[in-house]
Amino acid sequence: MVDDFAREVEAFFESLPAVMTAAGPGALNRVRALRGAMAKARLVGFGIPEEYGGRTDIENASYRMQEIARGRMPKEDGMLGIGLNMAVPIILQYGTEEQKKRFIPPTLNAQEVWCQLYSEPEAGSDLASLRTTAVLDGDEWVVNGQKVWTSGAQNSQMGVLLARTGEEPRNRGISMLLIPMNQPGVEVRPLRQITGEAEFNEVFFTDARVPRDWVVGEVNDGWRAATGLLAHERSSLGKVGADAKREANASAAVPFHYLLDIAIRTGHNTNFNTRQELASAYIGEKVMSWIGQRKVHPSIGKLWRTKQARYVAAVGARMAMSGAAAHEMGDKDGEFWMYHILNAPRMSLGGGTDEIQKNTIGERALGLPREPS
Ligand SMILES: Cc1cc2nc3c(=O)[nH]c(=O)nc-3n(C[C@H](O)[C@H](O)[C@H](O)COP(=O)(O)OP(=O)(O)OC[C@H]3O[C@@H](n4cnc5c(N)ncnc54)[C@H](O)[C@@H]3O)c2cc1C
Repeated sequence: MVDDFAREVEAFFESLPAVMTAAGPGALNRVRALRGAMAKARLVGFGIPEEYGGRTDIENASYRMQEIARGRMPKEDGMLGIGLNMAVPIILQYGTEEQKKRFIPPTLNAQEVWCQLYSEPEAGSDLASLRTTAVLDGDEWVVNGQKVWTSGAQNSQMGVLLARTGEEPRNRGISMLLIPMNQPGVEVRPLRQITGEAEFNEVFFTDARVPRDWVVGEVNDGWRAATGLLAHERSSLGKVGADAKREANASAAVPFHYLLDIAIRTGHNTNFNTRQELASAYIGEKVMSWIGQRKVHPSIGKLWRTKQARYVAAVGARMAMSGAAAHEMGDKDGEFWMYHILNAPRMSLGGGTDEIQKNTIGERALGLPREPS
């Protein structure tokens, strides 16, 4: 049904200069510019109250926007995901009025890009064993310690940080702080991945500063907000693959249309076994899209995305590389599928490993007895 809202969104996309939606070098600047334009047009922040820069006048607006924007958002849009899909909902739920006014508007329009400072060298799946500390000194927290695997830290103005603020063990005595990244006490060092990219980083804190009031929720009771944010993360990761028309990107399974394209071009589409695989990949993508539209446990969508990513990459690579793990330099298909087969395993880790998702589904969704710790 075409109504005023649909016309509004269409008019917005039609009015955009092409440079804003094109990929390539400088892509982060372009997606930030696009977000800025969307915020100005009131096309972000659906469900978020107007006083924080959001919009509540359109029913089911996020879903409808997603439908109309299908295949029209640049693939680098995911770089802004931590701010929009994790920091904003958690500040809305647990933040003070001042925090909501200070942080939500510049996140919606991408003036501030966020990273997630949770994992440490000795604290990944077992996040409650984290050691980074924040100690109050007058009106500021002083932060010392190290984080690792911090996606996008090199591009971020702000970070959601978990740090130990109390003496209590494990998940007690932890607080969530909102830390400015551009300051002398924060050092970001890139980590190179098997794909050749350096998307995530080590982050070192040496007497870094956070204003006293930038704690989300109660001091020493940050675990609640911390796990709430993880649920938002898993839920948004599970939805990345819902757009079947999208371009391939590093955070989701390669869309089915790429698989079909190479199958037709290489003649594999006439092979009985490949046809079975294509059917499985198509069904997997459909299921992912339906999971994305429903309110299911967030770990289910995340697990499904990972399974689909590995499967599609393996089928595509077999067609592109004729069963060999090598290709000629400059062979576009070979390079594309090699990248995705190397990239797919990371989806099992970021946002919590497959095993942790299964534990979570067992304990929280199915009510099975907890793992002994
Ligand atoms: C692409 C990517 C992006 C990331 N981005 C971020 C980010 O932005 N911010 C951030 O803070 N972190 C980030 N991470 C880190 C990620 O959250 C951790 O890698 C993940 O939580 C696993 O922790 P670990 O690497 O220390 O592995 P470990 O926890 O040491 O796990 C090792 C293995 O043991 C298994 N295991 C551990 N505990 C259990 C258990 N109880 N039951 C069964 N099996 C278990 C795991 O499943 C895994 O196979 C990212 C990781 C990747 C790969």
